[in-house]
Amino acid sequence: MTDETRLETLRTRLADVRARIDAACMAANRDPRAVDLLVVTKTFPATDIALLATLGVREVAESRDQEARAKVDALGALAVHLRWHMIGQLQRNKAKSVAGWADIVESVDRLPVAEALAQAAAARSRTVDVLIQVNLDALPAEDRGGCRPADVEALGRAIEDLPGLRLAGVMAVAPWPGDPDEAFLRLAHVHERLLAIAPEATLRSAGMSGDLEAAIRHGATQVRVGSAILGDRPVIG
Ligand SMILES: *Cc1c(COP(=O)(O)O)cnc(C)c1O
Repeated sequence: MTDETRLETLRTRLADVRARIDAACMAANRDPRAVDLLVVTKTFPATDIALLATLGVREVAESRDQEARAKVDALGALAVHLRWHMIGQLQRNKAKSVAGWADIVESVDRLPVAEALAQAAAARSRTVDVLIQVNLDALPAEDRGGCRPADVEALGRAIEDLPGLRLAGVMAVAPWPGDPDEAFLRLAHVHERLLAIAPEATLRSAGMSGDLEAAIRHGATQVRVGSAILGDRPVIG
């Protein structure tokens, strides 16, 4: 596929997704400007990110440290104009590296990871925004990541005490299979409780290609869309 064809494909799909966001906001009586589109570029090449940038995309998300760093390197000066989101499960030993490229880490789910990130951010004299990833599974505790709803406020308080981090809100993935409306309503309640103690933490990152409408109904301020824009991802083992 030539760059020109790929650009047109991305342009069309981006417009389709923006139209879905606008329609969902209309239906929910919300201002479309209150919902940011984050394009999830994991598994797709840096060349796609460059094309997306020419289409006005500024917010991109990656889920693996090594892959993200390679793309930041490949994009050179262009990378500086983008806002990089880390949305994948984060191990403590990767925090230092992630703090080198991520502007915001959406997948903070436990204190040791937050502490490692804070230390790495402070060492670079920078501030990293973080979201608490909330586990919305009916039976949490599998290794899918995410803080249990009951532990979110305590983690939020702890993050607020850490230099180098700025608590910006919450993130969640709706369980599959399951009812996304029910899941995102639960996220809304968890977020309200966090806002009561951390009023600046206003970002609610919820909704993907398949369920962004439900997320917008329940107050998402950011949707994370990959396949509806970039196409199907190769299955990785
Ligand atoms: C991959 C991923 C997405 C995007 O999913 P699509 O269904 O491709 O839109 C969103 N959020 C997280 C946390 C992801 O890992």
